[in-house]
Amino acid sequence: MWWDERFDFQTTFLQCLAKHVPNIYSAEMDPLLEKQEEMVQTTIFYPMECYLFGEDPDIFLEKLQQSGTSQLCGKVFKGGETTYSCRDCAVDPTCVLCMDCFQNSIHKNHRYKMHSSTGGGFCDCGDTEAWKTGPLCTKHEHGASGTAKENSECQLNEEVMEHSRRVFPSVIKYIVDMLIWEEEKELPLELTISREKADNYYCVLFNDEHHSYDHVIYSLQRALGCELGEAQLHTTAIDKEGRRAVKAGHYATCQEAKEEIKRHSENVSQRPLHVEVLHADVMAHQKFALRLGSWLNKLMSYSSDFRQIFCQICLKEDAGSEKPCFISKLMLWDAKLHKGARKVLHELIFSSFFMEMEYKKLFAVEFVKYYKALQKEYINDDHDRVLSVTALSVQMFTVPTLARHLIEEQKVITTITETLLEVLPEYLDKNDKFNFQGYNQEKLNRVYAVIYDLRYVLISKPTLWTDHLRERFLEGFVSFLRILTCMQGMEEIKRQIGQHIEVDPDWEAAIAIQMQLKNILLMFQEWCACDEELLLKAYKECHKAVMRCSANGRSREKTVFHLCGHTLESRPYRVSTDPVSIHLPLSRTLAGLHVRLSKTGTISRLHEFVSPEEFQVDLLVEYPLRCLVLVAQVAAEMWRRNGLSLISQVFYYQDVKCREEMYDKDIIMLQIGASLMDPNHFLLLILQRYELADAFKKMKPTKDQDLIKQCNVLIEEMLQILIYVVGERYVPGVSNVTKEDVIMREIIHLLCIEPMAHSAITKSLPENENNETGLENVIDKVATFKKPGVSGHGVYELKDECLKEFNMFFYHYTKTQHSKAEHTQKKRRKQENRDEALPPPPPPDFSPAFSNVVRLLNCDVMMHILRTILQRAVELETHLWTEAMIQMVLHLLSLGLLEEKQQLQKSPEEEVTFDFYHKATRMGSSALNAVNILMLLEKLKRVPQLEAQKDTVSWILQMFNTVKRLREKSSLATTVAATSGLEATKGDESTQDKEKAERKRKAEAARLHRQKIMAQMSALQRNFIETHKILYENTLETQGKEDAIMEEESMSLAIDYSKIALGPKRGPSVAEKEVLTCILCQEEQEVKLESAAMVLSACVQKSTALTQNRSRILELSGDTLDPLFMHPDLPCGTHTGSCGHVMHAACWQKYFEAMQLNFRQRLHVEQIFDLENGEYLCPLCKSLCNTVIPIVPLQAQKINSEDAEAVAQILSLARWLEIVIVRISGYSMKNAKGEKQNAPAFINKGVGNSALEFHSILSFGVQPSIKYSSSIKEMLILFATTIYRVGLKVAPNEADYRIPMMTWSTCAFTIQCIENLLETEGKPLFGSLQNRQHSGLKALVQFAAAQRTTSPQVLIQKHLIRLLGVLLPNFKVEDTPSLLEVDMFHVLVGVVLSFPSLYWEDTVDLQPSSISSAYNHLYLFHLTTLAHITQIVLSSATESPTARSHDNSEEACSAQSFCKEVCRYTSGCFSQDIPGWLVWDCVKKGIMPYLRCAALFFHYLLGVSPPEELLQVSEEGQFKALCSYLSLPTNLFLLFQEYWDTVNPLLQRWCADPVVLSCLKGESIAIRYPRKRNSLIELPEDYSCLLNQASQFRCPRSSDDEQKHPVLCLFCGAMLCSQNTCCQELVNGEELGACTSHALQCGAGVCMFLKIRECKVVLIEGKTRGCLYPAPYLDEYGETDPGLKRGNPLHLCRERYRKLHLLWQQHCIIEEIARSQETNQIFFGFNWQLL
Ligand SMILES: [Zn+2]
Ligand SMILES: [Zn+2]
Ligand SMILES: [Zn+2]
Ligand SMILES: [Zn+2]
Ligand SMILES: [Zn+2]
Ligand SMILES: [Zn+2]
Ligand SMILES: [Zn+2]
Repeated sequence: MWWDERFDFQTTFLQCLAKHVPNIYSAEMDPLLEKQEEMVQTTIFYPMECYLFGEDPDIFLEKLQQSGTSQLCGKVFKGGETTYSCRDCAVDPTCVLCMDCFQNSIHKNHRYKMHSSTGGGFCDCGDTEAWKTGPLCTKHEHGASGTAKENSECQLNEEVMEHSRRVFPSVIKYIVDMLIWEEEKELPLELTISREKADNYYCVLFNDEHHSYDHVIYSLQRALGCELGEAQLHTTAIDKEGRRAVKAGHYATCQEAKEEIKRHSENVSQRPLHVEVLHADVMAHQKFALRLGSWLNKLMSYSSDFRQIFCQICLKEDAGSEKPCFISKLMLWDAKLHKGARKVLHELIFSSFFMEMEYKKLFAVEFVKYYKALQKEYINDDHDRVLSVTALSVQMFTVPTLARHLIEEQKVITTITETLLEVLPEYLDKNDKFNFQGYNQEKLNRVYAVIYDLRYVLISKPTLWTDHLRERFLEGFVSFLRILTCMQGMEEIKRQIGQHIEVDPDWEAAIAIQMQLKNILLMFQEWCACDEELLLKAYKECHKAVMRCSANGRSREKTVFHLCGHTLESRPYRVSTDPVSIHLPLSRTLAGLHVRLSKTGTISRLHEFVSPEEFQVDLLVEYPLRCLVLVAQVAAEMWRRNGLSLISQVFYYQDVKCREEMYDKDIIMLQIGASLMDPNHFLLLILQRYELADAFKKMKPTKDQDLIKQCNVLIEEMLQILIYVVGERYVPGVSNVTKEDVIMREIIHLLCIEPMAHSAITKSLPENENNETGLENVIDKVATFKKPGVSGHGVYELKDECLKEFNMFFYHYTKTQHSKAEHTQKKRRKQENRDEALPPPPPPDFSPAFSNVVRLLNCDVMMHILRTILQRAVELETHLWTEAMIQMVLHLLSLGLLEEKQQLQKSPEEEVTFDFYHKATRMGSSALNAVNILMLLEKLKRVPQLEAQKDTVSWILQMFNTVKRLREKSSLATTVAATSGLEATKGDESTQDKEKAERKRKAEAARLHRQKIMAQMSALQRNFIETHKILYENTLETQGKEDAIMEEESMSLAIDYSKIALGPKRGPSVAEKEVLTCILCQEEQEVKLESAAMVLSACVQKSTALTQNRSRILELSGDTLDPLFMHPDLPCGTHTGSCGHVMHAACWQKYFEAMQLNFRQRLHVEQIFDLENGEYLCPLCKSLCNTVIPIVPLQAQKINSEDAEAVAQILSLARWLEIVIVRISGYSMKNAKGEKQNAPAFINKGVGNSALEFHSILSFGVQPSIKYSSSIKEMLILFATTIYRVGLKVAPNEADYRIPMMTWSTCAFTIQCIENLLETEGKPLFGSLQNRQHSGLKALVQFAAAQRTTSPQVLIQKHLIRLLGVLLPNFKVEDTPSLLEVDMFHVLVGVVLSFPSLYWEDTVDLQPSSISSAYNHLYLFHLTTLAHITQIVLSSATESPTARSHDNSEEACSAQSFCKEVCRYTSGCFSQDIPGWLVWDCVKKGIMPYLRCAALFFHYLLGVSPPEELLQVSEEGQFKALCSYLSLPTNLFLLFQEYWDTVNPLLQRWCADPVVLSCLKGESIAIRYPRKRNSLIELPEDYSCLLNQASQFRCPRSSDDEQKHPVLCLFCGAMLCSQNTCCQELVNGEELGACTSHALQCGAGVCMFLKIRECKVVLIEGKTRGCLYPAPYLDEYGETDPGLKRGNPLHLCRERYRKLHLLWQQHCIIEEIARSQETNQIFFGFNWQLL
């Protein structure tokens, strides 16, 4: 209907809206969003778009989309999004790129910075004014290059333009009207359809920043009586959208609800919530207005023409009307809009005005026009700045051309400064000075935004000055001076005498403003310095302002002060009694302008602008001097009663954040004074202001120690200032130095204290307006970088050639820095065998305007001061001088001599009027006992208290000589000069000789010392051998006669055999006597079976460190778990670790009980550890432990090889197997009488032999069971129960049948972990374990062997039979897994440790003898190995062969024939085609971890030493050595051949298992060997890649665009949505965060995450514990950047990542968490559960 030209669009449009909008948005309380959207589309947007485009909207927009893109990116940032800036190319740091543009730009390889956006910013890609180079990324470059051509194409046709001009005004007007609509009940007439209005109202609650989330929920629950869930829903929506209807109904009902909410919210906090009652139709139209806004927003992105038309309409002013245009109306209304509306509005401005440079300018003009009003609104608003239209200023003011335009045409500087003055009047006192006492922090923070705008406008200096610009700038500067005038002398303070002040005054606000202004002040000065004329005019204005402020106090009568024949007339003023202020921005600005005058040389024209009479230098100096005196008096503790606030102010006055525009400028002002005043008068003024006039006259003897001390500090402070005035010349303009020189000097002095990290240096340097310090440009000239190790950070070390620049009295040193630097430098010189004099380095020459300052050094008053102090020292008036004072006097003397020397070297002697030497050698008076300075120095050398200064004094005396010679040289003939030169070198030589001799003497002394120590050591060694010999002989004796004989006989043979662990050739156990010291009582005790137990602190934890399948779901509770068999995936095991610290069991129990008692008494203290679960911290190393391992001594065993060989004749594997089977069936027959179901039916009749009987097993040797002391037994039970409880997550139960299973399981699993760790670390199997790992493993294996004795043997037998069932399928045991479903090493450990239970007899407790054990171990091991080989062949040898041909080795042939059998038994499922060499290859590789684990196990079980080869890392040697140690043939298939008759039936059964067959058919997948070694996931080299990933991360549970915290699981690579309610999970009735619930599965509770946006690693354990850990990413300075605060490019540090990997694989995560929580108690408050 709209394309009917007969109707006016406006009317039709409004009629349509009036009809549809209230209907569509009727259900406000419970809207069906999709339905609403659909209705809006069909009833309003579709017809409107059809009219606008003249064709189908989808087709039209599609065409438009393809025809071209803008060259500006314009992406608007959401909070938390990463933005990038380039330090090389960005015009200022506010120029940023979005992630996409950055990744496609040249800046990727520059020095970029990454930051988290606070939201509201906008990508500057394509803005040529924002970038010095590379303004376009490759994506937008494409758009830009095509613009010329495509612009014509993408232009809209006239018809569409025409329609737009008709449609947009109505749309915009509607939006504006509805957004600023204030009537609650009525709509504009044109939208009202009928007179009869339905009584439908909403009670609408608005967002504010005053009330907390919980306040609002509480108020809503109370007022509306709604459920918590509903109140939460409302509150979340209000926080997000800014407003929400919380109740619908009649007007009265809503009004009532409104009052209720207000009442309840007022109860909670002082202010009521903002609530309104709105008519349903008003609400609907407002809602639709916003929908229209986002519709326009979308439309804007399609075409520049749309944007331009939109902007034109928005800017159109009614002719002749004063009313603001549409866009200004909205801006002015901004602070009254709710959050959601503001967001839409700001986005619309971004997508329209800011995308078209021309209109951006026009918008900026409007913005500045209403600037004052907007800022005032913002200051009274309570929303965040990002939500205010004023935050857009940065987008306009930082554009250089725009800023210049706004200054020239809109007087923006003046506007901003006037705004400042207008918003601050409440802080003006009666003298028109600011006073921020009792200020409102929040409000003042908002004022800072205005100050920031000033900074933005000034950030780029104009290169071209027009008269107009100059005029406007000066106008702005003068206006700015008005602000400074209000600050000059503000917040005056007066010294408190007698009583301490009651309340510390507020000082923070004034200092904070000073900080904000620092760079603005500097920029103003820089701008002024661009132009000579301007600089002079600005100087004149500033001077005038200073003078106006210095007017008061002139009423006092002048007084006269005499010293050394000089007289000073001045007005009396005392810092200690009169008011004083540290805020002097006007004086300091003037000082800043003054050095710029000097630098540019313009100072010669100064008299044209400020006449000498007007200048009044003494007045200019006065205020800065007072400030410095105040600092001195604070140091002298004269202002103690004024409290801490003054101390803080003095701190900031000199701190790097403020000093450039405070302290530094005050020193410059004194230098200005010194250069323009008579030096003697200047010094008299200084003495007087420091209140030291009397101190340098005749001393009045005083007894008051405090006063003397005070006076001494003041003298020190004054001398220091004098040193600075004369010596500090590193300011461009004061001398001819560059900014680079200045920074270099700062860095040199920082590094003279100690080597420092990049970030530490950066923090100590002042930042300019671009947040740059200039560090990088110069650092390499003065320092060398030293890389960090796996912890810590990289540091810069000063280059040696820069050491000579060190000035002990550097003016930016704090007192501590000063003494640290002095200490470091003296130490260094001492180490270099040099004298300890640290004279000042020669300073650069003053520039002409300041050259008179040096006259201070040789003036009469200075000489008097120096002489007086020296004399007091020489005369030992101990209370009147200090060593520091002498140091400073010496420093001043050095400066004087250096100055004279330099002048003499530059010009002929007669021209040099600087006569320091002359003055210093002149007598102080005409008295008989008069002395000169030179004489005093000679005497000073003999003052014992000044021993430390001796070298400096010598240096000065030498300098005196040098200057003297220089003076004489020029007056004498050249020949003489030559000789004196010779003399000088001679002198040098003699000192050199002396040094040489000294060095030689020291070297000799060192040599003698070394010799002595060597002698002592060899004596000790001899002693050691002596004692050891006795020990050795003793052991031989006790060994027993027959052993000794046998040993002798078989000595030669035994060497070969001793390194075999299994079978008849078993070597002897090496069991040394163990004497351990208890860490608690410090007593030693030998570990013995019969003694009280000693224990090792230990930590048992579940672990997934070896898992081969992370997708497997772990069972959280082990109530029904059967842990006898471990799945070959090793999904989750129980790890036992120890910190290796030993205690008496009794001592530990006492310790643990005491701790329990202690914590019970302090009920509410949160604990790091969980006492209920037996946790405690190791008393020595504070590792987290949860149990103890009893230390069971190894039973030394040694077998007689002859006996063993004899047994070998009878006991073949077949025979052994028969005996075992008979024994087991015998048991089952016995048991069958009792409980039938547990008896395994023995079914293989073929093997049965009637000759054997139940007791045969005993005939190969038995011995009585080992008896353990009751204390050891108790500990065995305690530890076993802990393993059971922790490993299965069940309640403790000492009698549970699964306890022995868990014991074997943790033993096997821990060995597997250690084997894995050794392999990944590339360490040899034996001899490289850490002490703690070694003793932990030893104790664990011995424990596991002994644990059996504390359980019923019947139970152990039952488990044994089930385990044997895997190997011997003849036992028909239910639930026996197939060969492919079980980890063979776990089986091995289980059968070996449970096997002795077969020797159990009812009446006597027996166990196998050594020889029996040797055979049992051998055959059990061979059986499992056979099974494991079969496993490997079945699961791993399935690859099709590569082209590689192999010769047919013996192994290959055996493998081939083995495969044939397997093929037969699997009825062809196993492919026979696999070549033998390949099978052998697979087996050899696949079996290694198993063999290594077995070697570790048997070694720790039996104590047999391993062969040498296992103490080294060598692939081939290792395999052979393992085979030999474990009694295996190196051709493993020989085992099958050797035992074929016995193995054949077993193999047949193994292969015929249905599970195996299905696997071979490919129906299921079996694990391949060797298993993969787990490592942490691969991380990208460049951190920005991770940020990129994170930015693409979408929460799987919610679709809103809120800020998310993506975290990366470093175990499995899963990206999770952390700290957010959307991804919380309910586990066992508890809400767990995404990380915590993921960790339960991924790491059995222990996990490692990377928080991507924060660049921090998080370690967590369980639901309550966690800690932060530095991420393994470093910047180029070797530093981490937690929180990305510095934002430098970060790169992966492999060593650190590896350290994290080891932390995981060593199972030390829990330990790390406990340690970190001990040190950083802050994390107690953190709710790890919701992470
Ligand atoms: Zn971009
Ligand atoms: Zn781009
Ligand atoms: Zn760049
Ligand atoms: Zn003890
Ligand atoms: Zn420990
Ligand atoms: Zn994971
Ligand atoms: Zn989520």
